[in-house]
Amino acid sequence: MRPLIYAANWKLHHGPSAAREFAARFLELTRPVPDRDLWFFPPAVSLASLADAFRRRSDIRVGAQNVHWELKGAFTGELSLAHAAEVGATLTLVGHSERRHLFGETDEQSARKVAAALAAGVTPLLCVGETLAEREAGRTEEAVRRQLEPVSALVADAGDRARVLVAYEPVWAIGTGRNATPKDAADVHRYIRRHLTERGWPGRVRVLYGGSVNAGNALALLAEPDLDGVLVGGASLAAEGWAEIVGVGG
Ligand code: PEP
Repeated sequence: MRPLIYAANWKLHHGPSAAREFAARFLELTRPVPDRDLWFFPPAVSLASLADAFRRRSDIRVGAQNVHWELKGAFTGELSLAHAAEVGATLTLVGHSERRHLFGETDEQSARKVAAALAAGVTPLLCVGETLAEREAGRTEEAVRRQLEPVSALVADAGDRARVLVAYEPVWAIGTGRNATPKDAADVHRYIRRHLTERGWPGRVRVLYGGSVNAGNALALLAEPDLDGVLVGGASLAAEGWAEIVGVGG
């Protein structure tokens, strides 16, 4: 079995007490499994309680959903990587489609966040993906390339590049109940790796798939060797359901 990452994006769900309740139940339902890493992205206010609840599980990591590229200053409402790390975050999502499409985050801003996370010792999971219009126009690769190029421009060091993970999340599949077929997802994963290799990235970049993953389709998706794991929103919110999904691939 290859190493797999199961990442839960809770979006604007589960405050500190709900996060603690989830963790207590999830700890009862699961145990560490070799080559399976469990990542949680709770709301920022729940980072401390979730990191604390999972502190004895070395297979579980907790991260922010969004960060600012500056560590401190006059940036009202933003989340500092330093503060997130102080309460136990070792990961951050960057450029989730909801940040890009609902809040206007640009490809360049996402790239700055990736670079800032690396500088702060926090692992970035960069989300990329095409809109439905882009897919239907045959422009999926172009869309993904446009999102990756600023990262290659800003993050040049091979050691830094080796610490970046990518999540391929087609925008039309997020929260819609429509998911990419395993083959369609694998095709884009291969494209992402080929593109990054052409830009001089070392090794095999780990790429997760996200978009309406659930207990019914996770196994088929993870049967594709080009998928290194899944990033899951809705189906990660209930401890029982998420425990079932993380059990399906190994
Ligand atoms: C996500 O939020 O990254 C996501 C993939 O959501 P969902 O699983 O609900 O489609």
